Amino acid sequence: MVTTTEVLDQFKKYVIGNYNRLNQVIVKGEGCRLWDADGKEYLDMFPGWATSIIGHCHPKVVEALRHQAGELIHIDNTFYNVLQGQLAQRLSELSFGGQCFFCNSGAEANEGAMKLARRHTAKNKYKIITAEGGFHGRTFATMTATAQPKYHQGFLPLMPGFVYVPYNDIDALKAAFDDDVAAVLLEPIQGEGGINVADAAYLQTVRDLCDKHGALAVWDEVQCGMGRTGKWFGYQVTGVEPDIMTLAKGLGGGVAIGAFVARSDVAASLVPGTHASTFGGNPLACAAALATIAAIEEENMLANVEAMSRIAREKLNQLATKYPIIDHVRGVGLMLGIQLNAPGADIVARCWANGLRINCTHDTVLRFMPPLNVKAEEINRAITIMDEALAQSNGGALS
Ligand SMILES: *Cc1c(COP(=O)(O)O)cnc(C)c1O
Repeated sequence: MVTTTEVLDQFKKYVIGNYNRLNQVIVKGEGCRLWDADGKEYLDMFPGWATSIIGHCHPKVVEALRHQAGELIHIDNTFYNVLQGQLAQRLSELSFGGQCFFCNSGAEANEGAMKLARRHTAKNKYKIITAEGGFHGRTFATMTATAQPKYHQGFLPLMPGFVYVPYNDIDALKAAFDDDVAAVLLEPIQGEGGINVADAAYLQTVRDLCDKHGALAVWDEVQCGMGRTGKWFGYQVTGVEPDIMTLAKGLGGGVAIGAFVARSDVAASLVPGTHASTFGGNPLACAAALATIAAIEEENMLANVEAMSRIAREKLNQLATKYPIIDHVRGVGLMLGIQLNAPGADIVARCWANGLRINCTHDTVLRFMPPLNVKAEEINRAITIMDEALAQSNGGALS
């Protein structure tokens, strides 16, 4: 059995150091639990960076993968394959009845959606409006779409044609709009940006302005989709439908897959030769996504999200009363953010040392995003560990 030190040495020598990693090697996961190479167990309230949406190694996903791996792992899009069609039908029926394109990641889904928006609106429309604090990926177009200067440093010049507006600001949006706009791309709930929830009136204004100017509304549901909010998709919380919706993260229950769903008349613009993905929609990835969707349905996970959200909010609000470092708790379903009024890195590190994984984004927002099938006792244990971490970090004195 390889030791932690050996793996760390190997990484140092052979793996590019573009991540800040914790010094643990994770060797096994099950539900909300993780084990490192030294046998220590952790409770994971941010599994796979919000990607293992029904917990690590859900038995239905494992079974579907095992079965499909023995039948056909990959077949290119020269052919039809059964599972891609089935997955497209499920996503279409669960959302707004469009058609799907499959790829392998969130960035690719957004990249494709933006290409489709330009292609569909054509006639010299080229501008893509995105919101400050948003996150859309790391490719050149999606990095440019990500209206946060820290992600652009060292990569200039950015792609032309992007316009940034403050999130949730109706007047700024109106001022930015003109007939050159091809699309507005935004997250119904910003994830990396700190769990910021769009107002219904804001999303409706985007919708109306897009209709008025012949632009497309593109919702990036990579993080807030797939049941995270207690609805299948984040936009269903307000009911304001997009023309295109992008998915990835939770879609495959931990297996790499991305997709976008587009209104059929919009989708028609993506004719052969305009866009493609070699791996996109292959049987193995689609089997994982179909099993994930089936598990969410069969195990009533959307109802569980609502129930566990109430419990988590109540307990987190109790922590907010106890520790002045917590300003407030916000979010929807199991996409919860704990706004601190000081940096949260120390609290996250103490939680980890005590066996709990949570995340901190934008310095001062803790992200609490357990899997959709989390149990009350797991939430209770997580919040007890957070309580201890806050006490240890003297959170009460830091306000
Ligand atoms: C993570 C994320 C992406 C990028 O997804 P990748 O799979 O890392 O390319 C895009 N949009 C949102 C909202 C995300 O949270």
